[in-house]
Amino acid sequence: MKSDIRVCRAWEREHDRPVYTLATTCPACGADAINSAPAPFDPADPYGEYRRALRARHQG
Ligand SMILES: [Zn+2]
Repeated sequence: MKSDIRVCRAWEREHDRPVYTLATTCPACGADAINSAPAPFDPADPYGEYRRALRARHQG
C-alpha cells in the first residue's frame, strides 16, 4: 500500500526536525512536501550526509 505521508522538502533548512503532512506543501513553511518513503533515519538516506554536515556546523 502506498503511503500518502509526505515530508517537507526543506525541513533540514527550515525546521529542527522533519515536518510530515498529508498535503503537497509544508503547513509550516509552505515548501513542497515530498514522498517520505525513505525512512528519515535510514542509513541509505541520500540526505544523511547533508544532515550530518548541518549538525556539525551547528556544533562548530
Ligand atoms: Zn517546511
